[in-house]
Formats: sequence, C-alpha cells, structure tokens
Amino acid sequence: MAQELKCPRTGVRLTPHKFGEVEIHLSEGCGGAWFDRYELEHFKWKDHEAGERLAALMERFQSGEPDPEEKHSCPRCGDVVLHRRFYNALRKVEIDECPACGGVWLEVGDLAKIRKLYPTPEERERVSKEFFKAYRESDKVKDFQESNQKMDKVIDFLNTFIPWT
Ligand SMILES: [Zn+2]
Repeated sequence: MAQELKCPRTGVRLTPHKFGEVEIHLSEGCGGAWFDRYELEHFKWKDHEAGERLAALMERFQSGEPDPEEKHSCPRCGDVVLHRRFYNALRKVEIDECPACGGVWLEVGDLAKIRKLYPTPEERERVSKEFFKAYRESDKVKDFQESNQKMDKVIDFLNTFIPWT
C-alpha cells in the first residue's frame, strides 16, 4: 500500500495526482505540493503543459500566505526537517528539500515562479544536456545537489544574454 503523506504545513492528507507517469502529492489545505526526488524536473519547463496544469491546480487550493520562517518536516521521512535553499543561483525562488530522501516541498505559487526561470526548447536542450550528464554521474542526494548547482550555473550563464520572460 502506498504511504500516506501529510501536508507539512496544514497536516491534511496529501492527495496524489498523476501527470503521465509521475505522481505528485497536493495539499488541498494550502496548495503546496510534494515532489519525490527528481519529480520536479517533469514540471518546471515553460512549454510543458503538465507544469501549467499543476501550477493552476496548486493555486486553486491556496489558503493564506506561506510563512517563510516556518520549518517543515519531510512528509516521507517524518522527523527529518526540510532544508530551505534557493532553487538556483538566480535566487528568485526558495524551496524546501529533504536532506534524507531528496524530495522537494513547494509552496503555492512557487512552481509558477520556477517555471518562469526556465527557457524555450532550444535553451532547454542545451541546459538539460548539461544536467543529465551530471545526473548520470550521480547516485547520491549530495551529488544530485551538486549536479543541480552545475545546471544552475548553465542557466545563469544563459540568463545573461537570453531575455526570456
Ligand atoms: Zn525525506
């Protein structure tokens, strides 16, 4: 039986939603969403409509403003506290990441912000090549974070001369 996950903010049971082969868990209490390790990758690109659908779904359940100071526990690992970090070096969006399982909690609105950071198909191909090269070389959460940082550097570089909005 699938593990029952609880919203780290409101304590309500998270509702599973399938997007193709990926299943994320949505909080109908606050509009936040839980992504198991690597799952966020399926939703962040601007031209992927799954991300658009999910961002809209999250907003439907928005309830109050998230408190940026509030600490959350991992829905999967229970007593492990999620680490707040910037999603990438552009420092526009903060995410909560579990140091144990590598899953990510996003507050309502954050997926839409992340999607704005990500480029068109041509740039995406360049960035994802870099990313998956690093990804293949990694099998630990720590290595994954490093590869994420490498990808961020590439995106930062692209951001210096590509005016996407
Ligand atoms: Zn965890």
